[in-house]
Amino acid sequence: MSFGDRIQRELAERRANDLLRARRTVVANDGVQLTLADGRQVVGFASNDYLGLANHPDVAAAFRLGIATWGSGSGAAHLVSGHSAAHHALEEEVADWLGRERALLFSTGYMANLGTIAALIGRGDRLFQDRLNHASLLDAGLLSGARHQRYAHADAGDLERRLGDGEGETLIATDGVFSMDGDIAPLPDLARAAQAHGAWLMVDDAHGVGVLGEQGRGSCDHHGLNTQAAPVLMGTLGKAFGTAGAFVAGDADLIDYLIQRARPYIYTTALPAALAEATRASLSHVRDGALRTRLHANIARFRRLCAQALPTGVLMDSPTAIQPLLVGDNARALALGEALLDAGFLVTAIRPPTVPAGTARLRVTLSAAHTEPQIDQLIAALERVWS
Ligand SMILES: *Cc1c(COP(=O)(O)O)cnc(C)c1O
Repeated sequence: MSFGDRIQRELAERRANDLLRARRTVVANDGVQLTLADGRQVVGFASNDYLGLANHPDVAAAFRLGIATWGSGSGAAHLVSGHSAAHHALEEEVADWLGRERALLFSTGYMANLGTIAALIGRGDRLFQDRLNHASLLDAGLLSGARHQRYAHADAGDLERRLGDGEGETLIATDGVFSMDGDIAPLPDLARAAQAHGAWLMVDDAHGVGVLGEQGRGSCDHHGLNTQAAPVLMGTLGKAFGTAGAFVAGDADLIDYLIQRARPYIYTTALPAALAEATRASLSHVRDGALRTRLHANIARFRRLCAQALPTGVLMDSPTAIQPLLVGDNARALALGEALLDAGFLVTAIRPPTVPAGTARLRVTLSAAHTEPQIDQLIAALERVWS
């Protein structure tokens, strides 16, 4: 079969199953109010900007000042000439915030996962992952060449049964907060299992940092896990931090090792230094906590009103900014998303393969920047479109 045939068949199959993915162009965005390409104004409940920092004036001012100081691009990889004092200061501030010896910046969370996992394990080693882990962790496992098993979601008992004895080093990787469900991983149980088997636990806390824990330190802090219990802590900067990039935090040797071995760190251009300056401003808001208090008030309000407005079983059990509403059927999830859009709300319909078959859902995400009336109006619209 030619490439042309292959491409056409794949696209036709996806169309027929309501699985064709398409982008929606946004022409203006103040963080919560979006203007779509067709002129429609909608309130967004679909971004990962949980603290409203992506449009925060302090972060924007630091970004502008950073451009005045450093220019728009970093010009090279970190190991060449791209590592600025701004990047370095951000790494030190992240390490200080998390109470870990060192932190290392990556250009994206996807690359942080690929680079870290493929640096730590290889052929002859073992990787265990939660079945619902983010795609970047699954891809990292494939790239590493290690033997790779997925345990039942949030099930430390299933992990224990699979761990047994094995050759080589063993890494256990989990999302701290699961990106499509919003639940928190059972980190203390996973850490105990890891320690009992001489394995290392790696936590991808893309949706936990900024949202959970003292000073927004994330799911490890929420569960009281230190560096010994979870030696590898990865967090992203494009979500609650409102900028872009990612970090891995751990002890000094781990970070020095990654600088030698993590290819997606070594062979890519450093983030713009100005972005590091913007992210330093984000970090001070993350640590401060006022925005997190607002976010959690919004989460509580949404859950209380949703439980009253929608059938039981729809609102999934999540204490975080990710509040999925279970639909089941792909076409119905899409139709509900469209109906909400007509009502002025952007909520993403999530379908397989991002989530297991038969569990299509609307993924509502909340932000500190949402107002109470915006949340109340979303609930009223949900109640209307659901019936
Ligand atoms: C978003 C996300 C990533 C990828 O981070 P990017 O910086 O967007 O590349 C990795 N892991 C999880 C759990 C995520 O949600």
